Amino acid sequence: MRYAGRLLVVLAAVSGCSATAGVGPAGPPTAPATVAAASHDPAAWARWGLKPLPPAPPAPAAADRPVKLVRGKAPVITRVPTRDKVVFITIDDGKEKDPAFVRMLAELRVPISMFLTNDSIKDDYAYFTRLRDLGNHVQNHTMTHPVMSLLGPAGQRAEICGQQKILAARYGARPVLFRPPFGRYGDSTQVAAVRCGVRAIVMWRESMQINDMQYDEPDKRLRPGDIILAHFRGPTELKGTTMTRMFANLLKRIRAQGFAVARLEDYLDVR
Ligand SMILES: [Zn+2]
Repeated sequence: MRYAGRLLVVLAAVSGCSATAGVGPAGPPTAPATVAAASHDPAAWARWGLKPLPPAPPAPAAADRPVKLVRGKAPVITRVPTRDKVVFITIDDGKEKDPAFVRMLAELRVPISMFLTNDSIKDDYAYFTRLRDLGNHVQNHTMTHPVMSLLGPAGQRAEICGQQKILAARYGARPVLFRPPFGRYGDSTQVAAVRCGVRAIVMWRESMQINDMQYDEPDKRLRPGDIILAHFRGPTELKGTTMTRMFANLLKRIRAQGFAVARLEDYLDVR
């Protein structure tokens, strides 16, 4: 699951037909109107037992965005090449829908990117609309969360293209990023992603558990541009810990290492 995780930006782009399987080409990421930047209000952070994160530097200007996503290719991104002392939080699946987490993000305004699986969200699409309205992007994590590399080309396209359609209809913007379930993919997944209008496959460097992250690096330190994986999980999956407590633990670890949190999509140049 980590075999791709040791590379910075793996330009394992596949050339391929940019035509899509019925979903049309992906446009630029249509950001929600609000720009997500973490709150600097200590009182807001104190309500969650936290201290403010360092302020993130201004997002790069469009021409300076470090990850260039060219139409017709789907590179695999595990870390954003930047000197900014920022990391990016991605949250997967969508099973847990804790209202307190919406309140937490509304107060702290920490940006996240959501990689959503239809089977996990279809009982309450509106929950993620509230998170999107805070300035967070919705991205693609398949219809049913299969191991993509075990599916044929048509099966992979059905999983990705199908979810592109649903997410575009529900959240008003066609995803440009795809994360393969379990981090498992092959060349055929990159081809399928391109055909569905996806512009990059996103992996991760750290994986949040309950109290701390699992790190790729042996020194267990964050690096600028690291992409962190977390999940929408609740007490059943977290041994009694709530989503908000898990997220607070994550923010504490990030703050302890002096990092800010930035919005992943603000570092992508999607053409
Ligand atoms: Zn997943």
